[in-house]
Amino acid sequence: MYGHPTADIKLEMTNISDLVSDIIFNKYKIRDPYYWPEKISNSFREYCTQKGPEFFQNKNDDFKQSARLYDHKRLFTASMFKRTLPNGEIGDRKWVMYSIKQGSIYCFMCKLFSSRLNSLFVSKGFDNWKKYEKLS
Ligand SMILES: [Zn+2]
Repeated sequence: MYGHPTADIKLEMTNISDLVSDIIFNKYKIRDPYYWPEKISNSFREYCTQKGPEFFQNKNDDFKQSARLYDHKRLFTASMFKRTLPNGEIGDRKWVMYSIKQGSIYCFMCKLFSSRLNSLFVSKGFDNWKKYEKLS
């Protein structure tokens, strides 16, 4: 066939300069902080804030990717989305975003609002499950 209509559409897609439209287009990837852009634009920040942190937590994953070998194999677990508060009550770690691709976690607030790019919770993802209890 002449004309290649589908090829034309693809070309137009790559010309979209607004990163958000690109990422929203790929609904599967936006839920995983691993695929977030390195430089967070205002419109991306606004989009994520409107969605709220829970959208990006990926709580229903099997966490298989998070297996790390220390003295023995450790994994991220669903209970790590919860923590015991000083008064004994159970609270939510709303900031935790689990990356299905990497099996590590990122911080929703820091990744969107902090310039501390050297923090693991912003850059590469945290995966030291041995030290997990120490997190707030
Ligand atoms: Zn944070």
